[in-house]
Amino acid sequence: MSAADRLHEVDRRITEACQRSGRERSEVGVIAVTKYVSAPAVFEVLRTGLKHLGENRWQNAESKWRAVEEASVSDPAVGQAVWHFIGSLQTNKVKEVVGRFTYIHSLDRLSLAKAIDKQAEQLGIRVPCFVQVNVSGEDSKHGLAPGGLEDFIRQIADFQHLEVAGLMTMAPYEAEPEATRPVFRGLRELRDKLNASGLLSYEVKHLSMGMSNDFDIAVEEGATWLRLGSILVGKEEGVR
Ligand SMILES: *Cc1c(COP(=O)(O)O)cnc(C)c1O
Repeated sequence: MSAADRLHEVDRRITEACQRSGRERSEVGVIAVTKYVSAPAVFEVLRTGLKHLGENRWQNAESKWRAVEEASVSDPAVGQAVWHFIGSLQTNKVKEVVGRFTYIHSLDRLSLAKAIDKQAEQLGIRVPCFVQVNVSGEDSKHGLAPGGLEDFIRQIADFQHLEVAGLMTMAPYEAEPEATRPVFRGLRELRDKLNASGLLSYEVKHLSMGMSNDFDIAVEEGATWLRLGSILVGKEEGVR
């Protein structure tokens, strides 16, 4: 299947999930997670018109990032990509990532928030971040415990060069995707509670949740950004 066919199929399922849950299709964005593929497959995605790309490690993303930035100048069909950093971010990689990736989906600790804020200040930008929450409580998952979210927000509320665009979570892999619903619902409720708390002077709008195995359920529970890898861009042997 071509990237365009895969996108079409994913889009159909998103539209149906929106219909089931009374949502507008325009509320749901798609990030093509390209960590499993090399540059030619990334270009194929961009030529379908999808411009949001997700990578989880700078070391693996760098060559693709450079190739895309170069091509975006010379090839209008490639156009300008918008990069989302979705993986766990080491503080010593902040200098590489901030300024290149528009969004950071993995804000999970104060030291990282300070480093992002500092780097963004130097660049004169404000970085939209997603606070990652470990809703399922699995040991293997990164993210704040749900009970620690408000305290964390209090600590970063005054940062001038970082803004809380939304919350992010990863559900455990489930053979029956329906089983992920409580995780996604939990993230939505945390966002709504955060907005009701008045801790931030602006509204936190976004929910980054839903991957290849469970995105239909995530849409039904309010996802505004899906992070889709294998189902949308496929996988290549040896890339990661
Ligand atoms: C790899 C990855 C994805 C995409 O995974 P698929 O199951 O292939 O869709 C989404 N989010 C994060 C944080 C990832 O690391």
